[in-house]
Amino acid sequence: MAAKPVIITKTEMEKVLCGGKVPPRFEVDRGQLVAIWDVKRAGTDLGIEVKVYTSIFGAESRGVGEDSIRVCVVDAKADKGLNKTTYTTRTTGWELRLTGKIRDMFLFAKAIPACSCGRRMALRKNKADGNVFWGCTGYAARECSRTQQFVEVA
Ligand SMILES: [Zn+2]
Repeated sequence: MAAKPVIITKTEMEKVLCGGKVPPRFEVDRGQLVAIWDVKRAGTDLGIEVKVYTSIFGAESRGVGEDSIRVCVVDAKADKGLNKTTYTTRTTGWELRLTGKIRDMFLFAKAIPACSCGRRMALRKNKADGNVFWGCTGYAARECSRTQQFVEVA
């Protein structure tokens, strides 16, 4: 099956994003429509957001090749990314691929540990051996260097 590039309308995008159990809230960031969900565990707000940068500017998406739909997990308070952003190309079947990625990001977001210093941990990669681990988001400011083993959820 050949993946054909498509232009997505704002209405089509909203239909896909609002089709789940919890509809997102929408914001416009530098002209781009962004969908945001607050992640909760057992009714408690974790201070983590799943965000979809839709590539919708105005009534429809930008041209294919100009950018992709991005899904990311963000520490809401610190405004820091907690994962590597994943991209969905605007080709046939994007709806299923995007909803799959959003679901994956929710599972990932719920599994993000809190550091004993109170900050969130973020997924990091050891450049030398390629191993993935949790590292405190206080590391960049040299305030905390705690790490934790990353166990892939099956
Ligand atoms: Zn810490």
